[in-house]
Amino acid sequence: MAVQGRKIKVLFASAEAVPFVKTGGLGDVAGSLPRALNHEGADVSVIMPKYSIIPQEYQEQMKHVAEFYVPLAWRSVYCGIEKLTYQGVNFYFVDNEGYFKRDGVYGYFDDGERYAFFSKAICEAIQYLPELQVDVLECNDWQCAMAPVFLREFYQGSAACRNVKTIFTVHNVKFQGQFGDKVLNDILGLADNPTAAGQLYCDATSVNYMQGALLYSDAISTVSPSYASELQMPFYGEGMDGIFRRRSSSLRGILNGIDVDAWNPATDSMIEANYEPGKMKNKAKCKEALQRELGLAVDAEKPLVVMIGRLTNQKGLGLVRYAMNRLMERGVQIAVLGTGDKDQEDAFKYFDWAYGDQMCAKIAFDNALSHRMYAGGDILLMPSEFEPCGLSQMIAMRYGTLPVVRETGGLQDSVIPYNQYTGEGTGFRFANMNADEMANVLLDACEVFWTDKKAWKRIQKQAMETDFSWSRAADDYLDMYYGLHPELAR
Ligand code: ADP
Repeated sequence: MAVQGRKIKVLFASAEAVPFVKTGGLGDVAGSLPRALNHEGADVSVIMPKYSIIPQEYQEQMKHVAEFYVPLAWRSVYCGIEKLTYQGVNFYFVDNEGYFKRDGVYGYFDDGERYAFFSKAICEAIQYLPELQVDVLECNDWQCAMAPVFLREFYQGSAACRNVKTIFTVHNVKFQGQFGDKVLNDILGLADNPTAAGQLYCDATSVNYMQGALLYSDAISTVSPSYASELQMPFYGEGMDGIFRRRSSSLRGILNGIDVDAWNPATDSMIEANYEPGKMKNKAKCKEALQRELGLAVDAEKPLVVMIGRLTNQKGLGLVRYAMNRLMERGVQIAVLGTGDKDQEDAFKYFDWAYGDQMCAKIAFDNALSHRMYAGGDILLMPSEFEPCGLSQMIAMRYGTLPVVRETGGLQDSVIPYNQYTGEGTGFRFANMNADEMANVLLDACEVFWTDKKAWKRIQKQAMETDFSWSRAADDYLDMYYGLHPELAR
């Protein structure tokens, strides 16, 4: 698409990005959306923490481009900026070993401080790196939520920051960054600013970073249209629904895409054999290899249901646990790949033990295995209680592995239910958080698999041919960016 004015310059802030570090969907998005937007005529750079767990090969390619001190309340904290251009996108890494030299990414006692530092460092970087010339700062999730607050409270006087418009993008409202109000004085430097502090308080003694971003940002976005509506409801809003309702005219939902080059059964080198719509024979080879690898009975006629994702309550695992016996009795195979809450991990380890060659649980984070599972499965089960967007169902469809999903958030926006009369559809859906309803629909899907191979193939083809690329979403993103800068005609 031709952009008439100059290219809009966007700084995309995220706590994770593929291929450097990923714990979930946000990493995929930050690793692929900026490239797609640049392709469509924007100029997007990414800023993220320089974790010590970033693979060495990338760390060696980074160049030190700036260093400065970040004011955090009464302290000044060192910050280096390293730069790496990856697949045409400039990535800036915020370096401070005290905060980011850890074994993992999140879950440390000082996360409130680590990510307040990251947010402040973003504002400083906008000043110290003249090449950035930021028009729009897009902050993703709570880890950089304080940046729009800091920008307005501390940096309005700076020429580099004055015209920066801010967007806050919600990938999951469950994680808000809530901390004891001591941070106002010790870290945020906002204890003497009652107006700002008032926007951050969420109860008598706690402040909430995401709440700050929702109130301070010029626009709010989220990762699917349905989730944008759900966020305004008490059931899904996690206490923020009132703010979402109040700001609904500035809120929009844009369905995520996936990296269709990285996730492509026709070229994927991590799977047993490549296949594509119309040439599906090799998918059977992938299934056979997966059954063998996971110790499942090698049988083409047994529907192989895969689940790939975090093992947390959000993902509707209670329904699967409840329905497990019924599904096993019907001869379904289930393979789970994930890590998460201990009780969920234990439950699936138990099923693995109890159901022998019909059930397998791999408690691990294993990207290569996830590719083999997307390729080797027949069905992907995703009965989420809520799902802002969900990438697994889109990846599965690209691999001809048909999703069975609950109608919520991005699952509802990306899976078209199979209609046996018209033949339309890319998967199967159920409405309520009810294990029997889930099992009924999953077994309906199996029935089609068992008895109507022609229909199954047709749904697979429709799923695989759906456009899940980022170019579909890029136009909406550009609309949002240019909408904040009408002077930069598109
Ligand atoms: P969420 O962001 O809620 O974790 P998504 O479906 O949006 O869920 O994205 C999850 C991404 O992480 C997908 O790319 C999925 O394949 C990947 N993933 C999740 N758990 C694992 C795991 N244990 N091993 C490999 N990949 C995983």
